[in-house]
Amino acid sequence: MQLAKELYQLQELELDLESHLLQASKLQATLKDDSALRQAENSLAEAALHLKDQQASLRALEDQSADLDAKVNEVKKSLYSGRISNPKELSNLSKEQELLEAKRAQIDDQALQGMDNLEELQARCDQMMENLESVRTLWQQSQSQNTQALNAILSEIEKLKSERQEFISRFNPSDLELFQALRKSKGKAVSRVEQGNCRGCGLKLTPAWIQRARAGTLVQCSGCQRILYLD
Ligand SMILES: [Zn+2]
Repeated sequence: MQLAKELYQLQELELDLESHLLQASKLQATLKDDSALRQAENSLAEAALHLKDQQASLRALEDQSADLDAKVNEVKKSLYSGRISNPKELSNLSKEQELLEAKRAQIDDQALQGMDNLEELQARCDQMMENLESVRTLWQQSQSQNTQALNAILSEIEKLKSERQEFISRFNPSDLELFQALRKSKGKAVSRVEQGNCRGCGLKLTPAWIQRARAGTLVQCSGCQRILYLD
């Protein structure tokens, strides 16, 4: 087999290996990324916190209402006990009862509104919990799929690495050195010749160049320096 063809095959193998390494690192990054899960957890925590706050303020309103209720009863007791006969004092007590009852009605309205809010917040919390569950399920599925895919790629990488190692041992050091220097500087070291042109740079090759390449010697393109490979 001509040397250029073998070097071309080595290059194909290396490019294949590189693309597998890239895929593996992308999958590893995807596997590490649990931001969707964290976000769903945070949304739930936030909704739960609002719910808790609302429960606390509702309890506070209920306590205030009960407090006012006790005060109203106290005032009523005094009013109707028959122990107070002073009209001024009775009128004051009556006014106090009205004020306390008005205040209590206001607090009770707030508590009703608070209960509506509580229902909404509870619904929001339930929704966030469901959302977290479905995000978690999807995440676990994709983790397991990606882990499988990664393992397949990693074993393919091992295979390609040992194929490359085995392949490399066939070349003499100076050819390999040229190949590796070109790979490093140009990405591709070997360029196909198609319809008399170097595919790497498009240069039109003279029949003499093509003749030499066909003869099996290593010929480099005068345009891009790549090793020319003729099918
Ligand atoms: Zn070229």
